[in-house]
Amino acid sequence: ALTIGIAGLPNVGKSTLFNALTRAQVLAANYPFATIEPNVGVVPLPDPRLAKLAEVFGSERLLPATVSFVDIAGIVRGASEGEGLGNKFLANIREAEAICQVTRAFADPDVVHVDGKVSPRDDIETVNTELILADLQTLEKTIPRLEKDVKIKRGDPALLAAAQGAQTLLEAGTTLFSGAAAAKLDLTQLATLQLMTAKPFIYVFNTDDAGLADEAFQAELRAFVAPAPAIFLDAKFESELIELEPEEAAEMLADSGQDEPGLNQLARVGFEALGLQTYLTAGPKEARAWTIHKGWTAPQAAGVIHTDFERGFIKAEVISFDDLVEAGSVAAARSAGKARIEGKDYVMHDGDVVEFRFNV
Ligand code: GDP
Repeated sequence: ALTIGIAGLPNVGKSTLFNALTRAQVLAANYPFATIEPNVGVVPLPDPRLAKLAEVFGSERLLPATVSFVDIAGIVRGASEGEGLGNKFLANIREAEAICQVTRAFADPDVVHVDGKVSPRDDIETVNTELILADLQTLEKTIPRLEKDVKIKRGDPALLAAAQGAQTLLEAGTTLFSGAAAAKLDLTQLATLQLMTAKPFIYVFNTDDAGLADEAFQAELRAFVAPAPAIFLDAKFESELIELEPEEAAEMLADSGQDEPGLNQLARVGFEALGLQTYLTAGPKEARAWTIHKGWTAPQAAGVIHTDFERGFIKAEVISFDDLVEAGSVAAARSAGKARIEGKDYVMHDGDVVEFRFNV
């Protein structure tokens, strides 16, 4: 499943954030196909385009795309050696498609820090060291086997070279996700090895009012984790916000000087990290966003609605969201020449408004 694993040291606010995420599952009732598991939070991807589409089509309800977060047991120093919940942690994190690392950046004398001091950089180093060590263990087992296979001309020399490149990076203390581009390492080649630090990383800094207002502090941490994205939020505040009625929540948000809830940012950044995008459909019943991978063709996109749509795909009528809103209706968009008929090789764009034609 395309889930984002929430990881981090103990006592940094992971459960608080995860609880806020599960409370945000208000739309779950609209997704009868989604099985709700206790350690998975399925949150809507905020998409203001749906409300506009619903206006154009008179749709009764909105169905945004969703992003799934899975709660992963806290990591401790020595996890790569099976310390604490180490093995369970590593197994959980292997299953996630991306890693959201929560780091404590709030001051609170009542909340104990496992290492006795609040230092986001040190915490990130501690967690990433465990992940790097676990990946090195994987490579130490794999590389000799790959070498043997290549010697007898059965193995793939490119895979071996990539594995060795990965080992060099990891030995230098760099996660594969952040070091691959500079080292010209193609991570897709290593996919079969399921290395943890090759997954997309997102950093959530769980901070307080002071941290949310401190741009220099944020810029420094952003630079530290780049190219991974950083989100600054107050998990406790988010968990309180989610309990309120929309008007009250908007007021509280405005009072705090924030434009939108941190959870919205997290959903967007998470969706992006998974390499996903959406296309849109609309009618009198619903305006809906469908999740696809970047680079998918029209028949693949149709298959998300129903496998028969992919098999029987004939063509798609596509109007870009902006063109449709500007025209005001499908008919107006058609007469303005903004409705395109696309065939099976068409590569979908984010925000395409689509109607598929298919044989059954
Ligand atoms: P976990 O071990 O990472 O899951 O951490 P928890 O979510 O259980 O949080 C540990 C403690 O920190 C709890 O007492 C929380 O109430 C507190 N906490 C979590 N987030 C915040 C925050 O943003 N600000 C403050 N002051 N306390 C927080």
